[in-house]
Amino acid sequence: MEELLVEARGMEKHFPITGGLLKKKVGSVRAVDGIDIRIKRGETLGLVGESGCGKTTAGRCLLQLTKPTGGHVYYKMPIDVRERLDQLQSSLAAAQKGDDKAEVEKLEAEIEKIDLEYALEMRDSEELRRLRQEMQIVFQDPFSSLNPRMLIRDVVGEPLLIHGIAKGEELRERVIGLLERVGLNPEHLYRYPHEFSGGQRQRIGVARALALNPDFIVLDEPTSALDVSVQAQILNMLNDLQGDLGLTYLFISHDLSTIRYMCDRVSVMYLGKIVETARKEDLFLKPLHPYTEALLSAIPTPDPDLKRDRIVLSGDIPSPVNPPSGCRFHTRCRYREAICEKEEPQLVDKGGEHLVACHFR
Ligand code: SF4
Repeated sequence: MEELLVEARGMEKHFPITGGLLKKKVGSVRAVDGIDIRIKRGETLGLVGESGCGKTTAGRCLLQLTKPTGGHVYYKMPIDVRERLDQLQSSLAAAQKGDDKAEVEKLEAEIEKIDLEYALEMRDSEELRRLRQEMQIVFQDPFSSLNPRMLIRDVVGEPLLIHGIAKGEELRERVIGLLERVGLNPEHLYRYPHEFSGGQRQRIGVARALALNPDFIVLDEPTSALDVSVQAQILNMLNDLQGDLGLTYLFISHDLSTIRYMCDRVSVMYLGKIVETARKEDLFLKPLHPYTEALLSAIPTPDPDLKRDRIVLSGDIPSPVNPPSGCRFHTRCRYREAICEKEEPQLVDKGGEHLVACHFR
């Protein structure tokens, strides 16, 4: 069993929909609907899917910036504890099946003990605040994520000040160091965000995220608001920073070419569920899920001999308020059979870290 930095088990985020005068709950948007995510220390895991599939919500839930409504997110759980948790959960499933109430109670109590120590949602606000120093996010739109009335000195230095890590001249020195790390210089300290180009603003966003020496950064479409010419510079900078600082990334994007360039492993998300996870090479060369196949068929290839037939997905992505029964992809899948509408396929390991949720793959 390998060490993971971040792990989500059965993570859910359902947003309530209210209606009527009394604002009663009339339904929910199942943005993230019971997903498992495993991120190894030092790797970049890509999370890819069409807009509205829940990938941004999933990233925010991992950091507890949005509180999940179900499941658990574990951070830095030691391998032996992970192994124990796996054993306990399979014993619990067996005890529940056998209706052994005493055993169920005992196992649940032991699982709760582990959750209390390692599950982020169980931490009190002070502990979460401390852990947030280690877990940061870089947003898609560098302009709207930076306060337009703050000097760059304050934008980048604010986390250090808030956490009482540096002030005065030391703070200034540290901010200069951070700006230099992302390719800016001390001249930029006393300028406002609007005085910078999109690429420079994203560098500022990265400098701010690095201020507290994080271990884990969620990169939420960090280059999709930038000109193509600038995108590669920012991606290369993120790669260099990862190598120099030993960072672990969750890289969220709808763009498979960027995912291919940046990631070690990739999870594909569709309508609140993860439908496939694999090492990058396996996913791009031997995709198993029909949805992944369709996404990949749309990427232009420079070699005409490698030309794939474009698979056009019919219809729009269904609403996460009322997702299709069984396999959520069945309304758009060209391989669907009767079982697909009735039974939800589970994410199954096909070997070599390649997992897929499809009845026929
Ligand atoms: Fe398509 Fe059925 Fe597989 Fe879903 S389970 S992806 S509908 S073949």
